[in-house]
Amino acid sequence: MSQKVRVRFAPSPTGPLHIGGVRTALFNYLFAKKHGGDFVLRIEDTDQNRYVEGAEDYIIAALNWCGIPFDEGPGKDGGFGPYRQSERKTIYKKYADELVAKGMAYYAFDSAEKLDFHRKDHEAKGKTFIYNWHNRLKLMNSLSLSPEETRTRLDAGEDYVIRFKTPQDEKVVLHDLVRGTIEIDTNILDDKVLFKSDGMPTYHLANIVDDHLMEITHVIRGEEWLPSLALHQQLYDALGWTAPQFAHLPLIMKPVGKGKLSKRDGDKGGFPVFPLAWKEAQGYREAGYFPEAVVNFLALLGWNPGTEQELFTLEELVHAFSLERVNKAGARFDPEKTMWYNQQMLQRKSTPALAQLFLPFVEKHGLVAKEKTTPDYLERVVSLIKERATFVSDLCELGQYFFLAPTTYAEKAVRKQWKEDTPGILNEVIGVLESVDEFSSQQIEIQLKTWIADRELPFGKVMAPLRLALVGDLKGPHVFDILELLGQTESVARIKRAVAQL
Ligand code: GLU
Repeated sequence: MSQKVRVRFAPSPTGPLHIGGVRTALFNYLFAKKHGGDFVLRIEDTDQNRYVEGAEDYIIAALNWCGIPFDEGPGKDGGFGPYRQSERKTIYKKYADELVAKGMAYYAFDSAEKLDFHRKDHEAKGKTFIYNWHNRLKLMNSLSLSPEETRTRLDAGEDYVIRFKTPQDEKVVLHDLVRGTIEIDTNILDDKVLFKSDGMPTYHLANIVDDHLMEITHVIRGEEWLPSLALHQQLYDALGWTAPQFAHLPLIMKPVGKGKLSKRDGDKGGFPVFPLAWKEAQGYREAGYFPEAVVNFLALLGWNPGTEQELFTLEELVHAFSLERVNKAGARFDPEKTMWYNQQMLQRKSTPALAQLFLPFVEKHGLVAKEKTTPDYLERVVSLIKERATFVSDLCELGQYFFLAPTTYAEKAVRKQWKEDTPGILNEVIGVLESVDEFSSQQIEIQLKTWIADRELPFGKVMAPLRLALVGDLKGPHVFDILELLGQTESVARIKRAVAQL
């Protein structure tokens, strides 16, 4: 590629970014970084009715949280700004005018009511109303009216839109890096509005003008924009511009059934569909996901590395990514798998890093006891229990007994494991534990096992009640490790309490 790669993520600030939008941003980011190019953020806010306060900040915060910041965009001018279409308002009109002057677009005066009437009328007859070559001369526009009449209406300040004059009986040949070559019959296309009566361009015009002026080389976006591609290609041709290359990403599909993933699927399945919280909906961040896990699972939604590798750092993704390996078929969203990614990421974190992340939870859940919130203690707890954790918050539940002595004991386990002779046995165990000089997992294990062998007791008869006394349940890591970490005094105290209580 000789030209510098420039890609853009061009969301409309109409609400929070859906996880599919983040995937689009990610693929743009990966492609840009892979080719040493620029990743541009452009805010497409020409539709003022759909503008939502706070959405732009949300989008930027989401990209930053994911660790895929833009190189150029609002607040980061790279010489192609402004990057909000509302601030570029004055740029677009002349291109619409140019198309009118070339006879490739026209003024249309049809009122909203009239068009609505046609739409409903068609619907009633089981047809779809399309404004194009087959009926445009029967409608109210500069092609059906005389030049004088058109002039008079324009001069009188009548409301008008500018529509693209889609040619009749032609084929538009489109090239998509994911889907290959696609041919579209222009007869099925409608004369899309390019410029609206409120003085703003529509998405289509603003989008291609900006992609051209911002020297975008590759347009990577969701499949839902594929139907617009024929118009976009025709606009580039009509304006005499070289179009960028296009890559339309497959849809992200519901976990089960047909259709694309929606917020409702998330509500139903209890998983987030937004990166960050938005109003009452929680995001992946709030649900306890690591941004690296989110990036990792998104990367594999619609792209495959061509190998068995599933776990990637962002750098590895940049290295491995290519548009050739983007799939055509929709990518099924699997909430279970997203958790697996988080679990894997958690296992890969260093113990000190995890301990640090764990500390706020320890404090929040009142698990505090001074000597137990030292980095050393937390690290030792974490290294014993992290294996079973998917989220940092799981560590609370998994490791609670390292901070608080059990006050209740799992009923079923007690019924099964706590026998008549258990108190007697545990009292002897106390004696053994008190005789261990160096209270390390290894020493405790040797001495307890020797004692159990001498007493000719079944192993489980000692170990299960011992675990119950220490943990309150039959779960947890190696009992000897628990004993070491709790220490001699605390361990003995717990056993005594259990014997007294059960
Ligand atoms: N503004 C469009 C959106 O909201 C951009 C589509 C495109 O990338 O061309 O997704």
